[in-house]
Amino acid sequence: MNLSDFGWCVGSSLDLAFAPLAQAGFAVGRVVSEQRGAYRVYTQWGEQDAEVTGHFRHQVKDALGFPAVGDWVVVDPQEDAAEAIAIHQVLPRQSQFVRQAAGTLTAGQVIAANVDTVFLMSGLDGDFNLRRIERYLVTAWDSGASPVLILNKADQCADLPAAIAQVETVAIAVPIHVISATQGDGLDQLTPYLSPGKTVVLIGSSGVGKSTLTNYLLGEQQAATQAVRLDDSRGRHTTTHRQLWPLPGGALLIDTPGLRELQLWSANTGLEETFGDIQALAADCKFRDCQHQGEPGCAVQAAIAAGELTTARLHSYQKLQREQQWIEQRQDTQTRLNTKRRWKQMSKTIRQHQKRKR
Ligand code: GDP
Ligand code: ZN
Repeated sequence: MNLSDFGWCVGSSLDLAFAPLAQAGFAVGRVVSEQRGAYRVYTQWGEQDAEVTGHFRHQVKDALGFPAVGDWVVVDPQEDAAEAIAIHQVLPRQSQFVRQAAGTLTAGQVIAANVDTVFLMSGLDGDFNLRRIERYLVTAWDSGASPVLILNKADQCADLPAAIAQVETVAIAVPIHVISATQGDGLDQLTPYLSPGKTVVLIGSSGVGKSTLTNYLLGEQQAATQAVRLDDSRGRHTTTHRQLWPLPGGALLIDTPGLRELQLWSANTGLEETFGDIQALAADCKFRDCQHQGEPGCAVQAAIAAGELTTARLHSYQKLQREQQWIEQRQDTQTRLNTKRRWKQMSKTIRQHQKRKR
């Protein structure tokens, strides 16, 4: 294994950006796991424990600035590190999949960085939920990576064409692939996304078949992931819990076994991209600020009346919009608070300094 097996591309803009740091004696590594600030990083010397420096911790403004699985980081070059090697910097991200951190109102958490494709997995059994697919799509579009919808458990679906038609109404301009992970049906459709050096993250609710697909993609390595999962279910946390896996074909898979319900973080343009149909309709509403709630000349309500749009989809859009506005407000407050606190701290330092002078 070498760095290119983990997706490092010689001659890429990142490689060029790193060159001066390499000359200064630093090495580069890719974060393969993170657990409460303890990192495992793959470097040219193999997999090593790593942690951010005190200076880094001091400089970084929020959780989003810390290394995440998939990140390229600048580290100290140490061949035989007995202790954790130092992470000095996170290299610019090409994409980041962010969710609202569990149990918080205002903190974002990077689930995966530098991802090319987001595999959004949904089950075609009882789990089938268009509103959840919309939510996942918003976050996926926001990440900067390309979403791909994987509908699993095709063998459990009585009317496939009807199910696919339903999904097509919410997954606009998104490739849809129907598979059965246990039967091994349709899996070759995923090959184009798995070319060497490409990174894929697998997202979906629990029970949709993520582990089954992961094990299939990992091939012979699957025993290793299962061992890790067993540890987890006993509540033990090991620092060797790998989350980024090189696949036999040369792609990299980021696994998110602990991811429960997905709360939106700041939706950038994901909301617009996911609901492009409603946005296009709204452009024809008589009033520019139409809320599509019974105003005269509302093109959105007209489309609903004509059977071209469902009320459920409009409500889903409005709900996600409210959620996004709420999150943005909280983020603003949080930013103001931090500023206030920093000013307070600064004036305190100045006062102490003046006292000492006197
Ligand atoms: P995860 O929680 O997303 O990792 O889901 P798992 O991979 O653990 O799968 C949950 C359950 O669904 C298991 O019992 C799997 O055997 C089953 N399952 C996964 N894929 C399929 C499929 O294509 N068809 C059927 N019938 N069952 C599946
Ligand atoms: Zn309207």
